Amino acid sequence: MFRKILIANRGEIACRVIRTAKRLGVATVAVYSDADAKARHVAMADEAVHIGGAAVRDSYLVAERVINAAKLTGAQAIHPGYGFLSENSGFAKACAEAGLVFIGPPPSAIEAMGLKGAAKALMEKAKVPVVPGYHGDDQSPELLAKEAERIGYPVLIKAVAGGGGKGMRRVDAPKDFAAALAGAQREAANAFGDDKVLLEKYLVKPRHIEIQVFADSHGNAVHLFERDCSVQRRHQKVLEEAPAPDMPPAMRSAMGEAAVAAAKAIGYVGAGTVEFIADVSEGLKPDRFYFMEMNTRLQVEHPVTEMITGQDLVEWQLRVASGERLPLAQKDLVIDGHAVEARIYAEDPQKNFLPSVGTLHRLRPPAEDAHVRVDTGVREGDAVTPYYDPMIAKLIVWDRDRLSALRRMRQALAEYQVAGVATNTAFLIALAGHPAFMAGDLDTGFIERFRADLIPTPQPASTMILALVALAVTLERREAVARQSAQSGDPWSPWAAVNGWRMNDQGWDELILRDRDSDIHCRIEYLPDGDLRVHGPESSLVVQGNLDGDGGLDAVIEGRRLRAGIVRQNDDIVVLLPGESHRLTIIDPRAAGDAEEGGGGQLTAPMPGKVVQVLVTEGAKVEKGQPLLILEAMKMEHTISAPARGTVTKLPFLAGDQVAEGAVLLNLETED
Ligand code: ADP
Ligand code: ADP
Ligand code: MG
Repeated sequence: MFRKILIANRGEIACRVIRTAKRLGVATVAVYSDADAKARHVAMADEAVHIGGAAVRDSYLVAERVINAAKLTGAQAIHPGYGFLSENSGFAKACAEAGLVFIGPPPSAIEAMGLKGAAKALMEKAKVPVVPGYHGDDQSPELLAKEAERIGYPVLIKAVAGGGGKGMRRVDAPKDFAAALAGAQREAANAFGDDKVLLEKYLVKPRHIEIQVFADSHGNAVHLFERDCSVQRRHQKVLEEAPAPDMPPAMRSAMGEAAVAAAKAIGYVGAGTVEFIADVSEGLKPDRFYFMEMNTRLQVEHPVTEMITGQDLVEWQLRVASGERLPLAQKDLVIDGHAVEARIYAEDPQKNFLPSVGTLHRLRPPAEDAHVRVDTGVREGDAVTPYYDPMIAKLIVWDRDRLSALRRMRQALAEYQVAGVATNTAFLIALAGHPAFMAGDLDTGFIERFRADLIPTPQPASTMILALVALAVTLERREAVARQSAQSGDPWSPWAAVNGWRMNDQGWDELILRDRDSDIHCRIEYLPDGDLRVHGPESSLVVQGNLDGDGGLDAVIEGRRLRAGIVRQNDDIVVLLPGESHRLTIIDPRAAGDAEEGGGGQLTAPMPGKVVQVLVTEGAKVEKGQPLLILEAMKMEHTISAPARGTVTKLPFLAGDQVAEGAVLLNLETED
């Protein structure tokens, strides 16, 4: 086994590799870009080397810098993770030349599978079934169009150098072929520097089923069963599971054997995945699966295989790369239970899944145990940047059977607390609970077909959400008051510190919350026993509760106990409930009132008391937050501060005056 390895990657996969290396007593070296100096993978590794700028072409894709970092730190081997340099045969060769072990297949095997067209030709020779189509060298548009006719529409145009669903176009009719071809070629040239394409029969109801294979350098090769990755969006996997639902045993063995044959045909060593597409127009049939491509690396969704086989595939990779034999033979491998993985992304399903960048002000994954695993590269407080893939985590669950696993998945997703960026968790919950998905009625068109059921429609904040916000804000204010009385002399009144409070009628406060584009007016009624009655536009609810000091709110609403996460960022407040998140903005009613009343505003006494000191004079120009007047009430001094920059126009009271609750203490003509 190696003494020390370098991980040429970032994010969750770098952390994942480090976790196993640590368990095996192998020292680890991380590499990082400018944007990742404080990243989780850097913190987890024993050593870390800076390799350049935030953009991947300036750091993670620069083979020479990665190799130099390994030499500098005395690492013996390099684990490439997935993406980046993992399927770059030039990098694998450069490692060997530098005397480093590349933890992956030989360069020749990467090359054999690197181009989809050549790989298909090779697989045909090895008697592995391939999707009917054209993968020749002649790329003239006329010939391609003729081949498309021969294959029969619909056809799929694929970039031979493709990956990640790029450079792919479905064409339904001959008249659309030329334009689709030009589009695919342009995209392929941009993404891969190679505009060559192949054509395939487009399967109308396919499932994506892939086989995990493993080979050692002693001539042994096994498969670790299948993963079903049919739930995709734009040809990208969203949810993966193992084993594939309703897989006939005969088909499983046929696919496993075909995958092992594929690996043997190219002298494969290490972890690889053979991706097949199965025509399920008449259900799963042992003679209706076809080779699509082989990914010559560890795959994003490898954990589901680990969960059902009880094996650690990174450990297998390290053992095989250091020259050991495969830990198990085919006959020793069995499937136990069912595992599902969901990719949690910082993206907004309501905005066509646009990536959402920002700081993860709250990031609390569900607790990990024998059933729940979280693979992540970020912690609370870290940022999702525009430089890298916006994946926050992979959530993997295991249970005895598929429906139990899906139930666990929904539960674990609901427990995931994220604030600061938009996420796809509500979408994933809808997916994992969709009746058709639960029934195993899968194919790659699933998300498109059920789009309307899956994309959450924005719901206006319910009275319950309003009550939770009102409670949280009130508790914050009470805490501030308590703090203030503990350290008397603090000139900053909690009343002024908490925005959104109109200091008016007895026993009431008004709270204005902006929910997307509309303002919701709530009234908070203080009941004699300390509870609140929160009046929303539709109904009212009685609430009480406590802040737990760790971003949680324990509330009792009309006698029903519940826990919510509360994340406060300036005037924004996010309420997190199982599987839901609502962001509301607290609107300062004084500022809002000013706008309506043409720049005039009043500050009123929040409770009966005595004016202790007047700090300004009529006509004074004041800044936002400037203390204006000190009021003594309930044996405490409270400072009334300017809610905005402006001019004091009226000051009816002098020091020593008694004031009633709601009395106008001062008028302020605000600017802006
Ligand atoms: P496939 O290539 O068949 O879609 P995967 O789902 O394993 O297989 O990976 C998708 C591709 O997207 C990978 O090849 C990888 O390059 C890229 N990718 C996905 N997630 C990340 C990530 N977090 N960081 C870097 N690359 C990623
Ligand atoms: P990539 O390298 O981008 O992962 P793949 O060849 O693996 O490309 O295909 C990605 C996805 O596109 C598959 O998982 C499947 O959903 C869809 N796809 C690929 N080939 C076909 C086909 N012939 N018919 C229908 N869908 C296909
Ligand atoms: Mg693929």
